[in-house]
Amino acid sequence: MKDCIFCKIIEGTIPTTKIYEDDRVLAFKDISPLAPIHYLFIPKKHTASLCDVSPSEMDTVKELYAAVMDVVRKEGLDKRGFRTVINTGEMGGQAVPHVHLHLLGGKQLSASFA
Ligand code: 5GP
Ligand code: ZN
Repeated sequence: MKDCIFCKIIEGTIPTTKIYEDDRVLAFKDISPLAPIHYLFIPKKHTASLCDVSPSEMDTVKELYAAVMDVVRKEGLDKRGFRTVINTGEMGGQAVPHVHLHLLGGKQLSASFA
């Protein structure tokens, strides 16, 4: 979608460090990492938020998690633990309106979510 930062990353017009890619999912390093490992997993099909994923398209979420677990195992995070987060909407703290799943790890994360 025009004017979507993450669609521009998918198109290659905004550079990024890719971590994972298949025909449906792209993962790349967050530009402002909050942990030693902070990757974003996005569907290649533009969808504004989790609320815009229709019931018939819920495989999108499964595909994101399948990609996450591939990366988690490759980077050994399964042995140490990690966190996944999908911020959704204004009160959920979503800044970029293209569904994205944060993968955080590589340090002891705080128990706080707020
Ligand atoms: P949100 O707050 O919407 O859940 O997370 C958006 C994330 O996107 C933030 O962690 C932010 O650092 C990241 N981000 C925003 N713009 C860019 C960009 O141009 N490139 C990359 N790699 N990450 C970005
Ligand atoms: Zn987009």
